[in-house]
Amino acid sequence: MPLRTIAPTAMLALLFFTSWLLLDGRLGAAALTAALTVLALLATLLIHRQRPSLEAGGTLLCLANIGGCLLAAWLFGREALPWTYLALMSNFFIVRNAIATPLNLLLAAGLLLTPSLLLDPAQLQALVVISLIFGFGYHFSRRLQGDRARLEQLASLDALTGLPNRRALEKALLQQTNGLRETRFRQALVVLDIDHFKDVNDRYGHSAGDTALSDLAAILRFELRENDQVFRFGGEEFVVLAEVANREALACFTERLRKAVYQALRGPGGRITISLGGAMYAGEQRWQDWFARADAALYEAKSKGRNSVGVAE
Ligand code: GH3
Ligand code: MG
Ligand code: MG
Repeated sequence: MPLRTIAPTAMLALLFFTSWLLLDGRLGAAALTAALTVLALLATLLIHRQRPSLEAGGTLLCLANIGGCLLAAWLFGREALPWTYLALMSNFFIVRNAIATPLNLLLAAGLLLTPSLLLDPAQLQALVVISLIFGFGYHFSRRLQGDRARLEQLASLDALTGLPNRRALEKALLQQTNGLRETRFRQALVVLDIDHFKDVNDRYGHSAGDTALSDLAAILRFELRENDQVFRFGGEEFVVLAEVANREALACFTERLRKAVYQALRGPGGRITISLGGAMYAGEQRWQDWFARADAALYEAKSKGRNSVGVAE
């Protein structure tokens, strides 16, 4: 169940609990539950604003859950215990493990300190169930977190070349254009495209084309410095993000890449060449504008007859 549903549901449950306590004449407890309802309302608002407030909202929601459970346990004793099972489990799915575990330990400690509840020998079964839920919840949530991290990594890699893909590039460019560091003005974006690649496919088959793409990726990886990044943008187009001092240094850099590929990349029919277009970051608000300048420089390089470079003004 998504957090957007869990948060308002928890808030409604707490609101219902407040009304019930009011009708029952327990004004002090009703005031405390009303405060928890406000906490859950705040969590709901934060969660609907999405990132970066999603985690803050989730944490507030867990705190509201814990407060509600402890209050119910103090008021109603063991009859309230089933709610704590639900809260313990759902907390592991609302926030990541590093936050859920200490919060759930807080809930468990509160339950242990509640007079004549868990420490009562008659409640041994409840203590065992709570320990099991804690153990399983922790284990599942860790697995889920690991799977999510692996899936995110897979979704940002190109299957053929192993390079980060367009999705990863867009993320990197967004960070770049939103970054405040002055070093961003030393960042260069280079778009490179294999020349007459359609001919390679048409004459020697798609698998020869695939091999050339993988070889080009390996050459680029080898030529770049540790902090530079190369992405497969799509088809036979690649993008390099590199730190260079200025436009002249960028011209040398693109020429070095062109030469390296000219010397090393071979297909069944002989040399395979590339054309490159580069642009220094010039304060663009949208990464698309920066990209368009590099792309125009690539177009210029292609029109010079291919196997050449262009650098934007
Ligand atoms: P230009 O010099 O103008 O760039 O010519 P080009 O032939 O390289 O450009 P064009 O856009 O006409 O053709 C690109 C070709 O790239 C066509 C498509 O079949 C091929 N291609 C795109 N992705 C892949 C891929 O993953 N594997 C293989 N083998 N070919 C691909
Ligand atoms: Mg192309
Ligand atoms: Mg091409």
